[in-house]
Amino acid sequence: MLPFDDALRRILESAPVLPSERVTLDHSAGRVLAEDLVARAPLPGFDYSAMDGYALASSELRGAGPWSLPVCGESRAGALAPKLAPNSVCRIFTGAPIPDGADTVVMQEDVARDGENARFTIAPSTGSHIRRRGEDLAEGAIALARGTRLNAFRIGLAAAVDRADVLVARRPKVAILCTGEELRPSGSAATPGTIPDSNGPSLAAMVWSAGGVTDIRPRIGDTLGATEEALRAALRDTDLLLTVGGVSVGEHDLVRAALSNVGAQLDFWKVQIRPGKPLAFGRFGETLILGLPGNPVSAQLTFALFGMPLLRAMQGDQKPLPPRGRARLHSALRQKPGRTGFYRAQLDGDLAITSSNQASGSTASLAHADALLIVPAESAGIAAGDSVEIIRLAEL
Ligand code: AMP
Ligand code: MG
Repeated sequence: MLPFDDALRRILESAPVLPSERVTLDHSAGRVLAEDLVARAPLPGFDYSAMDGYALASSELRGAGPWSLPVCGESRAGALAPKLAPNSVCRIFTGAPIPDGADTVVMQEDVARDGENARFTIAPSTGSHIRRRGEDLAEGAIALARGTRLNAFRIGLAAAVDRADVLVARRPKVAILCTGEELRPSGSAATPGTIPDSNGPSLAAMVWSAGGVTDIRPRIGDTLGATEEALRAALRDTDLLLTVGGVSVGEHDLVRAALSNVGAQLDFWKVQIRPGKPLAFGRFGETLILGLPGNPVSAQLTFALFGMPLLRAMQGDQKPLPPRGRARLHSALRQKPGRTGFYRAQLDGDLAITSSNQASGSTASLAHADALLIVPAESAGIAAGDSVEIIRLAEL
């Protein structure tokens, strides 16, 4: 049985980086850059006013105020600025270029108009309310490095450095194969002993949010023949195969046998974690395989902990792992040492309240949790009030 960190490392190290493709910015959210985005011009590209007001040359303000200077010309956003006439001010608006000769903007709230003149009493400090060419990024600077996952703000920066499209890793193709006689599609007619497949839709959502595309395979029952046949088909033209269920030790748990019968190589099939111990990882040619346990919490959490980082690593993401934080434990938490524990909890500020139902079948407790508390394998528990490491589920 592998410790959590070793299993994660082995999975991430085996991730091949997928080829890249060019996408327009409106299709780039969540994708990982396969190129450095270089600022080909300074950002911003010219000095401009941060305020509506009046541009002037501060050296022309002699003596103590108040000052009254004629308003000559105006600089508007989107147009070339006039040159500043001597001993005058130029009307200027937010986003408009600074006129040649001006070095300061007085904001309009500090100015009284007196016919053709602008009158103000407070001495502006030289350079005020001007955003400088290149103050955000110098020409030639790397705006966003290869391996960066794009979010709304990074897409904003890509557009600001004048890109219409970007080179990103192509989306990994993920086949999802759920096993179990008892499964039926949610919303279909219930027959005795059957349950809706809840892992399939949940895993598909995680695949999408980690940048992958899904190939939902038909569900299969618990026979070796059907499992082998379904595996052969699902392994074709896939970057990652997820099997769900059938990896524990019951006689209907056929996935491991079927995987080896079709020629897949398994690297490991047990990890020292709770929940989720029977997690298999292997490959078939170029295709990676994650054999997830069937219990919904185990399946969904093991995919969140191992599968999402794997998909990100396959896209070259330099930060494939979710951030970890800390919280204070509301009530004592005990565990039997031996496996890293991941416990569902709700957060109230920095206080973590462990969910009352920690069963690996409790989809409700997982759906209502805010965070996973991580308790080291060797620990026998954490006292109330002590600090505990967490992963926020919203940051997966
Ligand atoms: P298994 O790993 O196949 O032994 O399944 C463990 C438990 O998880 C059983 O109670 C199964 O009914 C349940 N289970 C397996 N697959 C799914 C699924 N796709 N959706 C919901 N429950 C499942
Ligand atoms: Mg099963």
